[in-house]
Amino acid sequence: MALDFTTRQRMEYFGIKPVKSLGQNFLNDLNVVQEIVYCAGITKEDLVIEIGPGLGTMTEKLAACAGHVTAVELDRALIPVLESVLSPYDNADVIQGDILKTDISALISARLAEYKSLKRVKVTANLPYYITTPVIMMLLEDHASEIDSMTFMVQKEVARRMTASPGGKEYGALTVAAGYFSDVKVCFDVPPHCFIPQPAVDSSVIRLEIRKEPPFELDDRDFFFKVVRASFCQRRKMLANSLANAPYLGVARDHAVKCIEHIGKDARIRGETLSPAEFAALSNTILRSR
Ligand code: SAM
Repeated sequence: MALDFTTRQRMEYFGIKPVKSLGQNFLNDLNVVQEIVYCAGITKEDLVIEIGPGLGTMTEKLAACAGHVTAVELDRALIPVLESVLSPYDNADVIQGDILKTDISALISARLAEYKSLKRVKVTANLPYYITTPVIMMLLEDHASEIDSMTFMVQKEVARRMTASPGGKEYGALTVAAGYFSDVKVCFDVPPHCFIPQPAVDSSVIRLEIRKEPPFELDDRDFFFKVVRASFCQRRKMLANSLANAPYLGVARDHAVKCIEHIGKDARIRGETLSPAEFAALSNTILRSR
């Protein structure tokens, strides 16, 4: 199928109606598709994992640049479309399944073992909005060591949250996690009219360059993220109370106050004012003072 076959023509030809519950807002602007592939910096040495290829509009462009593309699509109705669209490419395959239930480590090692020329792993997606945060958190927390970069279309508000500064209402656990595992950049914004159907909100393309070294030392990464989650769980409360109210931390209020003061902060602060490095200092202090 030719690259200039539009999204609408593709939907009509294959009789596809977008399924709202699956977050199906198909990209209908080839310039935007091209720009995402450009921002992802895809080369012939890359294995690309595409999440939710939809009608294959971006998958085709990725296949033209990448060493190999594996696309994971949940909607069974789209599999014949993808097989047809991708038939001219011998470096692309499609897996039907839920990305949140896919064994991504096994998938990556299988492809890297099969195609020896692949040197890097890049994940791309126009992410379905209903699973944006779980997918990003899962990839960061469980697969950061296997991935080089991730380029995603997300809601503009999510892009803002991922790049927010401490203290503001957009700053949260997602900001801290994204910043710990990666260097996040907002590449460009995409208006609703570039999709079929049009979403109610603006979107942004973001690129996460996975860090080779952590930005700060953590005694226990899981505990650090528990401290971060507890701090943002009750973000209007004082940090000492939020920590003491999280049973999974096992920190009494007095102990929390001492640890906050130990890192040079006033015990009355709210968690949302701490930078990621200060959360690291706090979680290390709690652990070391037990
Ligand atoms: N990449 C296409 C594009 O840009 O036109 C489609 C993007 S659309 C926003 C999201 C896609 O993700 C849909 O094709 C949808 O069926 C698929 N999807 C939804 N939930 C998924 C899941 N849990 N795992 C894999 N794919 C999923």
